[in-house]
Amino acid sequence: MIKQRTVKTAVSAAGIGLHSGSKVTVNFRPAPADTGLVYTRTDLDPQVVIKCTPEAVRDTQLCTALVNLDGVRISTVEHLTAALSALGIDNLYIDVNAPELPVMDGSAQPFIYLFESTGIQDLAAPKTYLRVARKVRVEDGEKWAELNPSDGGFQLDLTIDFNHPAMERDLQHLVFNFTGRGFAAEISRARTFCFMRDVEYMHAHNLALGGSLENAVVLDDYRVVNPDGLRYPNEFVKHKMLDAIGDLYMSGRSILGAFKAYKTGHKLNNMLLRAFLSDAKNYELISFADDPAKVRSETFEFIDARIAEPA
Ligand SMILES: [Zn+2]
Repeated sequence: MIKQRTVKTAVSAAGIGLHSGSKVTVNFRPAPADTGLVYTRTDLDPQVVIKCTPEAVRDTQLCTALVNLDGVRISTVEHLTAALSALGIDNLYIDVNAPELPVMDGSAQPFIYLFESTGIQDLAAPKTYLRVARKVRVEDGEKWAELNPSDGGFQLDLTIDFNHPAMERDLQHLVFNFTGRGFAAEISRARTFCFMRDVEYMHAHNLALGGSLENAVVLDDYRVVNPDGLRYPNEFVKHKMLDAIGDLYMSGRSILGAFKAYKTGHKLNNMLLRAFLSDAKNYELISFADDPAKVRSETFEFIDARIAEPA
């Protein structure tokens, strides 16, 4: 049986909030099966709980936020979500003492490291996957994103299109067969990126006060400003891939299917996930509770390749 997962023990992380520039602490606690990813704003009285669902997602100028019906928000959740997807963690309590998670280094790698160090445990319930049953496509002008049925696990094919001297054309397309281990090794360290002119605008408007070369790749009109340069030659498309993986996990369920997109972003990825889940004919809920032999080998490879070994 392929089981649901949570963390082995409670663990905390602290860092800078992207919006506020202040120190933020987040505490992760084990959660029982079928809980999902549940956030709590511990700085509010009374505390406010927001479950991570595709409907709670709002794309903002800086990041992805979860917002409840009263307008209470928790920002900068997207890179954590990508890490949880790679680790196969379906259930987790996430307590944060601010309106945002710490931005860490702008990638998913610090969260991967944290949870791998803490340990991960299997729960008694089977893990449920969303298998794509028919094509779903969304468009926004020239941008588009789609999910298609596939025989294997979860494949991603993503193209960005920037006309910038620091972004070579052949480094703007990426195909990735998702595995947890592959994500950790090839994708997780890709940092968010932005342009100097945007940074100047945001700082002038008191936005992104925590943004710096410590947690983003910054480009001027000609080159990468960060003194140490890039972590991967194609770090930009890799980060967009990381974002898409996080965005498509906002239901807390892993997808088995083929994702393909052109110039997509958080907003379009969320539109795709909502469209996908809006009609039960688009997917099949499957778990591998009884007969793993029924699962095609590629799928099984994907499932087995979740990073951390369970307790
Ligand atoms: Zn991102």
